[in-house]
This record gives sequence, C-alpha cells and structure tokens, in this order.
Amino acid sequence: MTQDLNNEMKSDCPVCGGESTLIVTNKTDNIPYFGNILETAVRCEKCGYQSADNICLDHHDPVRYTLEIGKDKLNTRVAKSQTATVQIPELGLKVEPGAKSQGYVSNVEGILNRFEDAIQRVLLMDNEDPQSVKENALNIMDIIESIKLGEMTTKLIVEDPFGNSIIDDDDAKKEKLTPEEVEKLETGFTIINQDEEPIP
Ligand SMILES: [Zn+2]
Repeated sequence: MTQDLNNEMKSDCPVCGGESTLIVTNKTDNIPYFGNILETAVRCEKCGYQSADNICLDHHDPVRYTLEIGKDKLNTRVAKSQTATVQIPELGLKVEPGAKSQGYVSNVEGILNRFEDAIQRVLLMDNEDPQSVKENALNIMDIIESIKLGEMTTKLIVEDPFGNSIIDDDDAKKEKLTPEEVEKLETGFTIINQDEEPIP
C-alpha cells in the first residue's frame, strides 16, 4: 500500500511576479528501488515557468557497489538515484550528482550507452580541444565497444551517500562507505530539474 500525499497550493511567481499564479504541487510516490519520493512541481499560469524537484525520503546507509562488467553483465539491473556517483575508474569516466541529476533504473548496457552518448557530444562540439583529447575520447569509445563485445572487462562503481542505489547482481560487491568517503562524494542533495518542455 502506498500512502499518497497529494496537495496543491498557489503562490506568487518568482519569475513574472504574478500574484497567486504559481501552482505548487506536492506529491509522494513510491518508486521501485528508490522508495518514497517527494515530488514538488511548480507551474506558473501566467508566464509558463515551471520546475520540478524530486527528493528521496528514504535514507539508508551510505553504500558502494562494485561489479566487474563485461558482455555477460550487460543486462544486470542498475538503479541510480539522483544522489549517486557512477564511475568506470579504468576509463576515467565519472558522473557525479549535480543540479540536473535524475534517478533512473537501467542496466549495465544502458549505463555504457549513456557514457558513449556523453563522449559523442564532446566530440561533436566544435571546440578548441587539442587533438590528444579527441584521440583519448575515441580510444574510450573503442574500449566501451570491446566491453560490450566481450573482449574485455572493467569495473563499474556506484556510490550513494543515501543508499538509494543498487547494482542488482549476485557478483556485485556491496560495501558500506566510511564517513570520510561520504564526505568526498558530491551529494547533489538539492535537486531542481528545470524541465524545458512545456506541459502539453
Ligand atoms: Zn510567472
């Protein structure tokens, strides 16, 4: 049974200054792997400004999951909360929680795809990066492909100071983070997701 709290109230808009034009909606929801989540959304009836903020209400022990990933682990489920850091240290790849972090449930292949997309975007940007940076990026793309094809393996690490993330695999090593390790992690605790798409 999910106990839903769902309420709506009106406030003044910080963007256009409209009086009581900002509709604030608070909702709790229970999401698999992430537990109870508080979703706060605001939307201005006058200027169309909107933003949403999701906060995990369930906090568990700070945790680190480590898994050697290769072709046989591509379907392993990975749940990454908005406070999680995901990294593949041997490739120098790391995603830390930030202002636009979102939680998602994916699998190892999905995580690799996200890293590849991010590298693609860097390569496509018309920037001043020296050739060595581009060569390094292409090299990492090659290695990711090799992992998918089963030619090599590497370590995937998911760390979450609030324990709302998991690498759901019997071979994954689960450790509790020490307070010192937690301090070094970005928490991304205040999350505001600026949704650029208007509500249809
Ligand atoms: Zn407004």
